[in-house]
Amino acid sequence: MADFQLAEEILKAGSIERDALKLALDITQEGVELLEIAERIEGFIRSRGAAPAFPVNISIDGVAAHYTPAPGDEKRIPPRSIVKVDVGVHVNGYIADAAVTVSFNPDYTGLVRAAWKGLEAAISTARDGVTLNTIGKNVYEAIKRLGYKPIENLMGHKIERYELHAGKSVPNVPALEYRFVKMRRGEVYAIEPFATDGAGYVVDQGYSNIYRVVSARRIKKEAELSKLLQELWRRFRGLPFASRWVLSEGIADDLSQLERLVKMGRVYHYPTLVEAKRGMVSQFEDTVVVVDDGCRPLAGTLSLVAP
Ligand code: MN
Ligand code: MN
Repeated sequence: MADFQLAEEILKAGSIERDALKLALDITQEGVELLEIAERIEGFIRSRGAAPAFPVNISIDGVAAHYTPAPGDEKRIPPRSIVKVDVGVHVNGYIADAAVTVSFNPDYTGLVRAAWKGLEAAISTARDGVTLNTIGKNVYEAIKRLGYKPIENLMGHKIERYELHAGKSVPNVPALEYRFVKMRRGEVYAIEPFATDGAGYVVDQGYSNIYRVVSARRIKKEAELSKLLQELWRRFRGLPFASRWVLSEGIADDLSQLERLVKMGRVYHYPTLVEAKRGMVSQFEDTVVVVDDGCRPLAGTLSLVAP
């Protein structure tokens, strides 16, 4: 790792991310309110002088990704569930994105291990010059070896400053179109294998309470709406935010104007992603910096959980 200089901010984001995941592992328990888990983790990130890069995602059983509690959400962690907690931290736009699975069902120990092994395979393969197809192939094989399927339409992603999804994707299956696409030294990637006993792909179902500004251009003859849009852009740029934050940070008194921005296509409301056959889903994720002879995981997700 002596071969080039990492931005100090990204190392700080990684270290806060690691502590945030430890907190997630500690407080995610059967019967606890999702809202409490999300708010405690987000509060912790802010208390360390950083900001959430996106709302804490808490995805249960067959829900793979993209759910954060709504304002006043009363859902609790169900008994015997499989829970993915996905946390983003940014320091001055430098992002760490990582996730853990917490299982309250011993029947799914192998499923949880499969995603962990998938991430381990990817991290041990990632280096300057490796193709993204090779990473996908190794993730696929690690998950398949344990008798599960990777979710093929959920992928890792290149990260840039203030940009969570910056072009290149990291597949969890071999993919011909990635045969000539290489990881390069100095690039930052979130790597996130998902494993399932279901169909192996996700579909949209309902809404996530997670939003993102698509275009911050002024809206003609809508001064108030334009002002809200500008304020959302000023605070979050292109990063995802929660409807909870819009209320708790006093950006708006209710969500009606936000919903108008969604209808106008200026703000995107992410759908929740569920396994197509309602299979159970596990996920582990870390953000890595690619170096000449390997990669440097920022959160160290693998070392937080026994495989
Ligand atoms: Mn993530
Ligand atoms: Mn990610």
